[in-house]
Amino acid sequence: MKLFTVGPVEMYPETLAVAAKPLPYFRTPEFSEIMLENERMLRGTVGAPETAKTVFLTASGTAAMEAAVMNCFDGRDKLLVINGGGFGDRFREICAVHGIPHEELRLPFPEAFTEEKLRAFRGRGYTGLLVNLHETATGQLYDIDAIARFCREEGLYLIVDAISAYGADALDFAAHGIDGLIVSSQKALALAPGLSVVVLSERLYRERVLCIQAPTLYFDFRQHVENLERGQTPFTPAVGILLTLHERLRSMGETGMECLLRNTAALARRFREAARDRGFRLPAYPLSNALTPLLLEPDAKEIYRTLKEAYGLVVTPSGGALEHALLRVGHLGNVEWKDYEALLLAMGEIRERICG
Ligand SMILES: *Cc1c(COP(=O)(O)O)cnc(C)c1O
Repeated sequence: MKLFTVGPVEMYPETLAVAAKPLPYFRTPEFSEIMLENERMLRGTVGAPETAKTVFLTASGTAAMEAAVMNCFDGRDKLLVINGGGFGDRFREICAVHGIPHEELRLPFPEAFTEEKLRAFRGRGYTGLLVNLHETATGQLYDIDAIARFCREEGLYLIVDAISAYGADALDFAAHGIDGLIVSSQKALALAPGLSVVVLSERLYRERVLCIQAPTLYFDFRQHVENLERGQTPFTPAVGILLTLHERLRSMGETGMECLLRNTAALARRFREAARDRGFRLPAYPLSNALTPLLLEPDAKEIYRTLKEAYGLVVTPSGGALEHALLRVGHLGNVEWKDYEALLLAMGEIRERICG
Protein backbone atom coordinates (compact mmCIF):
# COMPACT_ATOMS: atom_id res chain seq x y z
CA MET A 1 0.00 0.00 0.00
CA LYS A 2 1.25 3.48 -0.84
CA LEU A 3 -0.65 6.50 0.42
CA PHE A 4 -1.15 9.53 -1.82
CA THR A 5 -3.67 10.85 0.65
CA VAL A 6 -3.61 14.14 2.57
CA GLY A 7 -3.85 12.66 6.04
CA PRO A 8 -2.82 10.33 7.43
CA VAL A 9 0.08 10.19 4.96
CA GLU A 10 3.12 7.96 4.51
CA MET A 11 5.17 8.29 7.67
CA TYR A 12 8.97 8.52 7.92
CA PRO A 13 11.00 5.61 9.37
CA GLU A 14 12.34 7.97 12.07
CA THR A 15 8.78 8.72 13.18
CA LEU A 16 7.86 5.04 13.25
CA ALA A 17 10.98 4.27 15.32
CA VAL A 18 9.99 6.82 17.97
CA ALA A 19 6.35 5.65 17.89
CA ALA A 20 7.44 2.07 18.58
CA LYS A 21 8.95 2.92 21.98
CA PRO A 22 7.09 2.57 25.29
CA LEU A 23 5.58 5.84 26.51
CA PRO A 24 7.00 7.72 29.49
CA TYR A 25 4.94 9.32 32.26
CA PHE A 26 4.33 12.94 31.34
CA ARG A 27 4.06 14.97 34.58
CA THR A 28 7.83 15.21 34.74
CA PRO A 29 10.46 17.92 34.14
CA GLU A 30 11.82 15.83 31.22
CA PHE A 31 8.48 15.82 29.39
CA SER A 32 7.91 19.51 30.18
CA GLU A 33 11.23 20.26 28.51
CA ILE A 34 10.13 18.39 25.38
CA MET A 35 6.84 20.32 25.31
CA LEU A 36 8.59 23.68 25.65
CA GLU A 37 10.93 22.72 22.82
CA ASN A 38 7.96 21.59 20.70
CA GLU A 39 6.33 24.95 21.31
CA ARG A 40 9.45 26.90 20.41
CA MET A 41 10.30 24.86 17.32
CA LEU A 42 6.74 24.81 15.98
CA ARG A 43 6.39 28.56 16.49
CA GLY A 44 9.61 28.94 14.53
CA THR A 45 8.29 26.95 11.57
CA VAL A 46 5.34 29.35 11.13
CA GLY A 47 7.19 32.59 11.88
CA ALA A 48 5.26 33.37 15.07
CA PRO A 49 6.91 35.66 17.64
CA GLU A 50 7.80 34.67 21.18
CA THR A 51 4.77 36.61 22.46
CA ALA A 52 2.42 34.21 20.64
CA LYS A 53 0.48 31.70 22.76
CA THR A 54 0.38 28.04 21.78
CA VAL A 55 -2.29 25.46 22.60
CA PHE A 56 -1.68 21.72 22.14
CA LEU A 57 -4.94 19.80 21.85
CA THR A 58 -5.47 16.05 21.90
CA ALA A 59 -8.01 16.17 19.12
CA SER A 60 -8.35 16.11 15.36
CA GLY A 61 -8.22 19.30 13.32
CA THR A 62 -11.93 19.98 13.38
CA ALA A 63 -11.86 20.20 17.18
CA ALA A 64 -9.09 22.80 16.93
CA MET A 65 -11.18 24.79 14.42
CA GLU A 66 -14.17 24.65 16.77
CA ALA A 67 -12.07 25.43 19.85
CA ALA A 68 -10.52 28.45 18.14
CA VAL A 69 -13.93 29.85 17.21
CA MET A 70 -15.40 29.17 20.69
CA ASN A 71 -12.51 30.75 22.57
CA CYS A 72 -12.19 33.85 20.40
CA PHE A 73 -15.72 34.85 19.36
CA ASP A 74 -19.25 35.01 20.72
CA GLY A 75 -22.75 36.20 19.82
CA ARG A 76 -21.63 39.83 19.63
CA ASP A 77 -19.26 39.12 16.74
CA LYS A 78 -19.88 39.06 13.01
CA LEU A 79 -17.57 36.75 11.11
CA LEU A 80 -16.80 36.37 7.43
CA VAL A 81 -16.24 32.77 6.35
CA ILE A 82 -14.53 31.97 3.07
CA ASN A 83 -16.44 28.90 1.96
CA GLY A 84 -15.05 27.19 -1.09
CA GLY A 85 -15.75 23.57 -0.16
CA GLY A 86 -16.15 21.05 2.63
CA PHE A 87 -13.69 22.61 5.06
CA GLY A 88 -14.94 26.17 4.55
CA ASP A 89 -18.41 24.83 5.14
CA ARG A 90 -17.21 23.28 8.40
CA PHE A 91 -16.31 26.76 9.70
CA ARG A 92 -19.82 27.89 8.74
CA GLU A 93 -21.34 24.97 10.65
CA ILE A 94 -19.20 25.71 13.71
CA CYS A 95 -20.42 29.33 13.75
CA ALA A 96 -24.01 28.12 13.38
CA VAL A 97 -23.71 25.59 16.22
CA HIS A 98 -22.25 28.23 18.55
CA GLY A 99 -24.68 30.98 17.58
CA ILE A 100 -22.02 33.28 16.19
CA PRO A 101 -23.34 35.67 13.53
CA HIS A 102 -21.56 35.03 10.24
CA GLU A 103 -21.76 35.59 6.51
CA GLU A 104 -20.05 33.72 3.71
CA LEU A 105 -17.99 34.44 0.67
CA ARG A 106 -19.08 31.37 -1.27
CA LEU A 107 -17.00 29.87 -4.04
CA PRO A 108 -18.97 27.10 -5.76
CA PHE A 109 -16.67 24.57 -7.46
CA PRO A 110 -14.61 25.38 -9.55
CA GLU A 111 -14.77 29.13 -8.96
CA ALA A 112 -11.48 30.84 -8.06
CA PHE A 113 -11.04 33.20 -5.12
CA THR A 114 -10.00 36.73 -6.14
CA GLU A 115 -9.16 39.83 -4.15
CA GLU A 116 -11.96 41.63 -5.99
CA LYS A 117 -14.56 39.17 -4.67
CA LEU A 118 -13.30 39.75 -1.15
CA ARG A 119 -13.35 43.52 -1.51
CA ALA A 120 -17.09 43.37 -2.19
CA PHE A 121 -17.40 42.58 1.55
CA ARG A 122 -15.74 45.80 2.73
CA GLY A 123 -17.31 48.00 5.38
CA ARG A 124 -19.93 45.50 6.53
CA GLY A 125 -18.95 45.48 10.20
CA TYR A 126 -17.16 42.15 10.44
CA THR A 127 -14.99 41.46 13.48
CA GLY A 128 -13.12 38.39 12.20
CA LEU A 129 -12.41 36.28 9.15
CA LEU A 130 -12.18 32.49 9.04
CA VAL A 131 -10.35 30.80 6.19
CA ASN A 132 -8.84 27.44 5.32
CA LEU A 133 -5.71 28.67 3.56
CA HIS A 134 -5.84 25.54 1.44
CA GLU A 135 -9.40 24.26 0.88
CA THR A 136 -8.47 20.59 0.92
CA ALA A 137 -11.77 19.47 -0.62
CA THR A 138 -10.81 21.05 -3.95
CA GLY A 139 -7.07 21.76 -3.69
CA GLN A 140 -7.59 25.50 -4.06
CA LEU A 141 -5.00 27.72 -2.37
CA TYR A 142 -6.30 31.16 -1.40
CA ASP A 143 -4.31 34.37 -1.74
CA ILE A 144 -3.07 34.92 1.81
CA ASP A 145 -1.56 38.32 0.93
CA ALA A 146 -4.93 39.61 -0.29
CA ILE A 147 -6.73 38.15 2.74
CA ALA A 148 -4.15 39.62 5.12
CA ARG A 149 -4.49 43.04 3.47
CA PHE A 150 -8.28 42.93 3.74
CA CYS A 151 -8.14 42.01 7.43
CA ARG A 152 -5.63 44.74 8.17
CA GLU A 153 -7.65 47.41 6.34
CA GLU A 154 -10.94 46.31 7.89
CA GLY A 155 -9.52 45.70 11.37
CA LEU A 156 -10.49 42.01 11.54
CA TYR A 157 -8.98 39.18 13.50
CA LEU A 158 -7.62 36.67 11.00
CA ILE A 159 -8.05 32.97 11.81
CA VAL A 160 -6.25 30.64 9.41
CA ASP A 161 -6.86 26.91 9.27
CA ALA A 162 -3.48 25.94 7.83
CA ILE A 163 -3.94 22.25 8.55
CA SER A 164 -3.27 21.15 4.97
CA ALA A 165 -1.19 24.21 3.96
CA TYR A 166 1.39 23.87 6.74
CA GLY A 167 4.58 22.41 5.30
CA ALA A 168 3.26 22.71 1.74
CA ASP A 169 2.58 26.39 1.07
CA ALA A 170 4.34 29.59 2.13
CA LEU A 171 2.89 31.05 5.30
CA ASP A 172 4.16 33.63 7.78
CA PHE A 173 2.28 34.25 11.02
CA ALA A 174 3.87 37.62 11.77
CA ALA A 175 4.16 38.98 8.22
CA HIS A 176 0.54 38.11 7.40
CA GLY A 177 -0.76 39.42 10.70
CA ILE A 178 -2.37 36.10 11.53
CA ASP A 179 -4.17 36.01 14.89
CA GLY A 180 -5.04 32.35 15.08
CA LEU A 181 -3.27 29.56 13.18
CA ILE A 182 -4.33 25.92 13.22
CA VAL A 183 -2.04 22.96 12.47
CA SER A 184 -2.67 19.23 12.78
CA SER A 185 -0.41 16.21 13.14
CA GLN A 186 -1.57 13.99 10.29
CA LYS A 187 -0.86 16.20 7.26
CA ALA A 188 2.62 17.45 6.24
CA LEU A 189 4.07 16.61 9.65
CA ALA A 190 3.29 13.00 8.71
CA LEU A 191 2.49 11.94 12.27
CA ALA A 192 -0.44 9.93 13.59
CA PRO A 193 -3.78 11.79 13.74
CA GLY A 194 -4.92 13.06 17.14
CA LEU A 195 -2.81 16.14 17.85
CA SER A 196 -3.72 19.67 16.81
CA VAL A 197 -2.06 22.96 17.61
CA VAL A 198 -3.47 26.48 17.72
CA VAL A 199 -1.07 29.44 17.72
CA LEU A 200 -2.63 32.70 18.93
CA SER A 201 -1.36 36.24 18.54
CA GLU A 202 -0.76 38.09 21.77
CA ARG A 203 -3.53 40.58 20.89
CA LEU A 204 -6.14 37.91 20.16
CA TYR A 205 -5.26 36.16 23.41
CA ARG A 206 -5.43 39.34 25.46
CA GLU A 207 -8.42 40.98 23.79
CA ARG A 208 -10.55 37.88 23.28
CA VAL A 209 -9.47 34.64 24.94
CA LEU A 210 -8.96 36.33 28.30
CA CYS A 211 -12.33 38.14 28.06
CA ILE A 212 -14.64 35.46 26.67
CA GLN A 213 -15.96 32.75 28.95
CA ALA A 214 -16.07 29.95 26.38
CA PRO A 215 -18.73 27.32 27.18
CA THR A 216 -16.16 24.53 27.39
CA LEU A 217 -13.93 22.83 29.91
CA TYR A 218 -11.65 20.64 27.78
CA PHE A 219 -11.04 23.30 25.16
CA ASP A 220 -10.60 26.32 27.46
CA PHE A 221 -7.53 27.96 25.90
CA ARG A 222 -6.68 29.86 29.09
CA GLN A 223 -6.09 26.61 30.96
CA HIS A 224 -3.94 25.31 28.11
CA VAL A 225 -1.85 28.48 27.82
CA GLU A 226 -1.28 28.72 31.58
CA ASN A 227 -0.25 25.06 31.81
CA LEU A 228 2.11 25.31 28.85
CA GLU A 229 4.06 28.04 30.59
CA ARG A 230 5.54 25.16 32.63
CA GLY A 231 5.53 22.74 29.69
CA GLN A 232 2.34 20.94 30.66
CA THR A 233 -1.25 20.48 29.45
CA PRO A 234 -4.39 20.53 31.65
CA PHE A 235 -5.28 16.94 30.71
CA THR A 236 -3.38 13.86 29.49
CA PRO A 237 -1.86 14.88 26.16
CA ALA A 238 -1.20 12.68 23.13
CA VAL A 239 2.16 11.75 24.67
CA GLY A 240 3.22 9.46 21.86
CA ILE A 241 2.39 11.89 19.06
CA LEU A 242 4.11 14.73 20.93
CA LEU A 243 7.31 12.66 21.12
CA THR A 244 7.17 12.00 17.37
CA LEU A 245 6.50 15.72 16.82
CA HIS A 246 9.65 16.52 18.77
CA GLU A 247 11.70 14.16 16.60
CA ARG A 248 10.15 15.55 13.41
CA LEU A 249 10.63 19.23 14.30
CA ARG A 250 14.17 18.56 15.40
CA SER A 251 15.06 16.76 12.19
CA MET A 252 13.46 19.57 10.19
CA GLY A 253 15.91 21.82 12.01
CA GLU A 254 16.24 25.55 11.71
CA THR A 255 16.04 25.88 7.93
CA GLY A 256 14.09 22.68 7.46
CA MET A 257 10.74 24.33 6.78
CA GLU A 258 12.01 26.01 3.62
CA CYS A 259 13.54 22.75 2.48
CA LEU A 260 10.27 20.91 3.09
CA LEU A 261 8.30 23.56 1.19
CA ARG A 262 10.74 23.46 -1.71
CA ASN A 263 10.63 19.67 -1.97
CA THR A 264 6.85 19.50 -1.76
CA ALA A 265 6.47 22.25 -4.37
CA ALA A 266 8.92 20.50 -6.70
CA LEU A 267 7.12 17.18 -6.38
CA ALA A 268 3.73 18.84 -7.04
CA ARG A 269 5.06 20.74 -10.06
CA ARG A 270 6.66 17.67 -11.59
CA PHE A 271 3.54 15.55 -11.07
CA ARG A 272 1.29 18.21 -12.60
CA GLU A 273 3.46 18.54 -15.69
CA ALA A 274 3.58 14.78 -16.16
CA ALA A 275 -0.18 14.43 -15.59
CA ARG A 276 -0.99 17.17 -18.12
CA ASP A 277 1.41 15.56 -20.62
CA ARG A 278 -0.59 12.36 -20.29
CA GLY A 279 -3.84 14.19 -20.99
CA PHE A 280 -5.18 14.51 -17.45
CA ARG A 281 -7.07 17.73 -16.71
CA LEU A 282 -6.62 19.98 -13.67
CA PRO A 283 -8.89 22.79 -12.42
CA ALA A 284 -7.84 26.35 -13.35
CA TYR A 285 -7.89 27.88 -9.83
CA PRO A 286 -4.60 28.38 -7.89
CA LEU A 287 -3.40 25.13 -6.33
CA SER A 288 -1.82 24.24 -3.01
CA ASN A 289 1.35 22.17 -3.18
CA ALA A 290 -0.26 19.71 -0.77
CA LEU A 291 -2.28 17.92 -3.43
CA THR A 292 -3.13 17.84 -7.13
CA PRO A 293 -6.83 17.64 -8.00
CA LEU A 294 -7.57 15.69 -11.19
CA LEU A 295 -10.83 16.16 -13.13
CA LEU A 296 -12.01 12.64 -13.98
CA GLU A 297 -15.76 12.95 -14.46
CA PRO A 298 -17.55 10.51 -14.40
CA ASP A 299 -14.99 7.84 -13.49
CA ALA A 300 -13.23 9.32 -10.44
CA LYS A 301 -14.70 6.89 -7.95
CA GLU A 302 -14.04 3.85 -10.11
CA ILE A 303 -10.44 4.92 -10.76
CA TYR A 304 -9.94 5.42 -7.02
CA ARG A 305 -11.24 1.94 -6.29
CA THR A 306 -9.18 0.23 -9.02
CA LEU A 307 -5.99 2.04 -7.97
CA LYS A 308 -6.49 0.86 -4.41
CA GLU A 309 -7.59 -2.68 -5.09
CA ALA A 310 -5.53 -3.67 -8.14
CA TYR A 311 -2.39 -1.60 -7.55
CA GLY A 312 -2.26 -0.85 -3.80
CA LEU A 313 -2.07 2.87 -4.55
CA VAL A 314 -4.36 5.00 -2.39
CA VAL A 315 -5.26 8.46 -3.68
CA THR A 316 -7.81 10.70 -1.98
CA PRO A 317 -11.40 10.29 -3.16
CA SER A 318 -13.89 13.16 -3.05
CA GLY A 319 -17.20 13.33 -1.29
CA GLY A 320 -20.58 14.87 -2.05
CA ALA A 321 -21.15 16.45 -5.44
CA LEU A 322 -17.54 15.84 -6.51
CA GLU A 323 -17.59 12.10 -5.77
CA HIS A 324 -17.49 11.02 -9.41
CA ALA A 325 -15.69 14.10 -10.74
CA LEU A 326 -12.53 14.69 -8.72
CA LEU A 327 -9.61 12.71 -7.34
CA ARG A 328 -6.93 14.30 -5.19
CA VAL A 329 -3.33 13.12 -5.31
CA GLY A 330 -1.44 14.11 -2.18
CA HIS A 331 2.18 15.28 -2.08
CA LEU A 332 2.67 15.16 1.69
CA GLY A 333 4.79 12.84 3.82
CA ASN A 334 7.26 10.17 2.82
CA VAL A 335 6.62 10.02 -0.93
CA GLU A 336 9.09 10.45 -3.78
CA TRP A 337 9.09 10.80 -7.53
CA LYS A 338 9.31 7.07 -8.32
CA ASP A 339 6.02 6.60 -6.44
CA TYR A 340 4.37 9.08 -8.80
CA GLU A 341 5.80 7.33 -11.84
CA ALA A 342 4.08 4.15 -10.67
CA LEU A 343 0.86 6.06 -10.03
CA LEU A 344 0.85 7.71 -13.47
CA LEU A 345 1.50 4.37 -15.14
CA ALA A 346 -1.38 2.75 -13.27
CA MET A 347 -3.73 5.63 -14.01
CA GLY A 348 -2.88 5.41 -17.70
CA GLU A 349 -3.66 1.70 -17.75
CA ILE A 350 -6.97 2.16 -15.93
CA ARG A 351 -8.01 4.95 -18.24
CA GLU A 352 -7.29 2.84 -21.30
CA ARG A 353 -9.40 0.04 -19.90
CA ILE A 354 -12.32 2.32 -19.04
CA CYS A 355 -12.26 4.28 -22.28
CA GLY A 356 -12.01 1.17 -24.39
C1 LIG B 1 -7.56 17.66 7.37
C2 LIG B 1 -8.13 19.01 7.56
C3 LIG B 1 -8.81 19.36 8.72
C4 LIG B 1 -8.97 18.44 9.89
O1 LIG B 1 -9.88 17.44 9.73
P1 LIG B 1 -9.99 16.33 10.87
O2 LIG B 1 -10.63 15.19 10.15
O3 LIG B 1 -10.83 16.87 11.94
O4 LIG B 1 -8.60 16.06 11.31
C5 LIG B 1 -9.27 20.66 8.85
N1 LIG B 1 -9.09 21.57 7.88
C6 LIG B 1 -8.45 21.27 6.74
C7 LIG B 1 -8.27 22.32 5.71
C8 LIG B 1 -7.96 19.98 6.54
O5 LIG B 1 -7.30 19.67 5.40
